[in-house]
Amino acid sequence: VAFEGLTERLQNAIGKLRRKGKISESDVKEVMREIRLALLEADVNFKVVKDFVKTVRSRAIGAEVLESLTPAQQIVKIVNEELVKVMGEEAAPLNKSAKIPTIIMMVGLQGAGKTTTASKLANKLKKEKNARPFMIAADVYRPAAIDQLKILGKDIDVPVFSLGVDVDPVEIVRQGLEEAKDKKNDYVIIDTAGRLQIDEKLMQELSSIKELAQPDEILLTVDAMTGQNAVEVAKGFNDQLDVTGVVLTKLDGDTRGGAALSIRAVTGKPIKFIGQGEKMTDLDVFYPDRMASRILGMGDMLTLIEKAQQEYDQKQAEELAEKMRENNFDFNDFLIQMEQVQNMGPMEDIIKMIPGMANNPALKNLKVDPKDIEHTKAIVYSMTPQERENPDLLNPSRRRRIAAGSGRPIQEVNRMIKQFKQMQDMMKKMSNGNFSGMEGLLGG
Ligand code: GDP
Repeated sequence: VAFEGLTERLQNAIGKLRRKGKISESDVKEVMREIRLALLEADVNFKVVKDFVKTVRSRAIGAEVLESLTPAQQIVKIVNEELVKVMGEEAAPLNKSAKIPTIIMMVGLQGAGKTTTASKLANKLKKEKNARPFMIAADVYRPAAIDQLKILGKDIDVPVFSLGVDVDPVEIVRQGLEEAKDKKNDYVIIDTAGRLQIDEKLMQELSSIKELAQPDEILLTVDAMTGQNAVEVAKGFNDQLDVTGVVLTKLDGDTRGGAALSIRAVTGKPIKFIGQGEKMTDLDVFYPDRMASRILGMGDMLTLIEKAQQEYDQKQAEELAEKMRENNFDFNDFLIQMEQVQNMGPMEDIIKMIPGMANNPALKNLKVDPKDIEHTKAIVYSMTPQERENPDLLNPSRRRRIAAGSGRPIQEVNRMIKQFKQMQDMMKKMSNGNFSGMEGLLGG
């Protein structure tokens, strides 16, 4: 899981203050030492750590914290705000040209995810902006890069221009742009070549393509898993090409956090998108505030909600919400909800986006077996329509029938019904505006 170690260490450091009432300057210094170590261990750039710690320390030694009755919360707040600042405060939107087409040049080292990201971006533009993107395959060096782009283009139904591997990439781009203009495509995405490391020849070629294409956006793809190396790569590309933004890929893996926290400060260029999986829909706008709360283990509720909105049938979702408010949530709704959640991706990833869950030790080795969900569904399917609408009908003999019908042990049926009732209870409380269970998360 991304940022796991960092989150844990930050929470531990700050958690020590929770047991105290008022805190002293030396308490603050102690916490800051631990935060510093946590960041260094997460592979955050040394200079970024130094500045960060200095700012947080001076704010934390101020009256707002020392006088406060809830110093731990105050420090969480400051750390959160400073994390947001380090990552650039606001989401940076994709540049758009005043004239058609907007030209986006993708650059990056081999294996960083450039080709995949080019297609994800085309897919996103198509889906979210109703755009008509066009891709140019100009990576003539990596074996199969062109075929890969063509296959992905076919999947998302976006045209891919290519001239094979024997034509000069600059020429490929020139002809590709002409065709895109002819066909009136509004976005052109150029997939350029990468190398295993930055070298003179690569930069020459990219500079020539830049000069010819005059891109509105030069997006550098870097692999978050490579930590400080990603930051070095970003610096290298930016020095040569003056990139306009960065895409940080593989944040679904267990990256330590160094790249996400350092790139903006080191290069001055914003992270615009993050890649969080191999699927075409796994590209998200980078929001510094959401990333900060994810790093602090406060979950990423906003992303979760957005994901839910993408996957959910809007009308169905509204109906479910309405039922929750009216306490009419029954097993039929439960079935619908299970199916929607299954569509959102691996359950353990989703659960970890909920505040307080990311670092919950009980979930540390959580693996939700898709079979469990199938079993739960089988149990619900074995209920009669009346039972699904009115779970109170489920007496012991009905439960035995359901167990036999679904092929699941009676204990499992009982447990599932009990959990369902607990969930109903929780919904009831939340719909009454009682979120008291959540307040403790920031510590108090
Ligand atoms: P390129 O050489 O930079 O064009 O790299 P590719 O686009 O071929 O990506 C290299 C590998 O990384 C492929 O297997 C991709 O599926 C994978 N990949 C790209 N982005 C992500 C991501 O955000 N998450 C994960 N898990 N894998 C990714």
